[in-house]
Amino acid sequence: MKIFKDKHILQKEILKTKGISFVPTMGGLHKGHISLIKQSKKFKFKTLVSIFVNPKQFNKKSDFRSYPRNKKKDIKLLKKLKVNYLYIPTFKDIYGFKPKNKIFLDKSSKRLCGKFRKGHFEGVLDVVNRFIEIIKPKYIFLGKKDYQQLYLIKKHIEKSKIKSKIVECKTIRENNGVAFSTRNLSLNKNQMKIASNIFYYLSNLKKKIKKKNGQFKISLIKKNLIKIGAKKIDYIENYNLKNFKKVKNSNKKFNLFFAYYIKNTRLIDNI
Ligand code: AMP
Repeated sequence: MKIFKDKHILQKEILKTKGISFVPTMGGLHKGHISLIKQSKKFKFKTLVSIFVNPKQFNKKSDFRSYPRNKKKDIKLLKKLKVNYLYIPTFKDIYGFKPKNKIFLDKSSKRLCGKFRKGHFEGVLDVVNRFIEIIKPKYIFLGKKDYQQLYLIKKHIEKSKIKSKIVECKTIRENNGVAFSTRNLSLNKNQMKIASNIFYYLSNLKKKIKKKNGQFKISLIKKNLIKIGAKKIDYIENYNLKNFKKVKNSNKKFNLFFAYYIKNTRLIDNI
């Protein structure tokens, strides 16, 4: 595995290959990331993983500072997975140039996480746009766990006529149902149990909504989640995955999207 910190040296190496399959990450690697990498390795191009904790997508400095990092362990894992290239850029390497494409922000960026994390998706699209310009990947592997992010990146790529294709990867979960996330590293055993109880509570809720074709009383659900152990709930909403519109009639296909806090850790998922 070749490791790069400088985009020009990286480009010298990769722009002569037939193409790149790209897996962007913020490190703190877990089985969700591994699944993306394994899918990428099935494609005919070389796999490039990036690790960059992008300060621009954090709406709070304290959250950026406390985001779990484990570079040594990550590098060891990526070597074991026989990843071809690892790009660990500095802030300047990413933000020290003016990209050709402007970012396109679909209006759905104002909903769900966009509503509760001001500037978050602007930061995500900015960094992804820059990565795309540097790497020019044939494929980009993204997880459905962060579905709103995936949807917005797809829209940006469509609108800007970028040639990279998105490969949507399913959400990988712990045995207790909780989606793997770097932020889980901040949870103790008891807090993990709460996250699992919340997962099962909301999975059952989704089944009930589907069966009874009914509306749900959001205030009651939020109260129950607090009883289970959540500190605060940002949102629980049904969204259609195709057009990313809010679903009011539960006859229609939807996923239940939610974001909540256990102590200071913010977790998101969709089921
Ligand atoms: P992150 O390092 O959190 O920015 O995530 C990097 C990529 O991994 C994103 O495309 C995420 O959607 C994806 N990802 C994160 N957690 C999971 C998971 N549990 N299952 C599948 N993909 C995931």
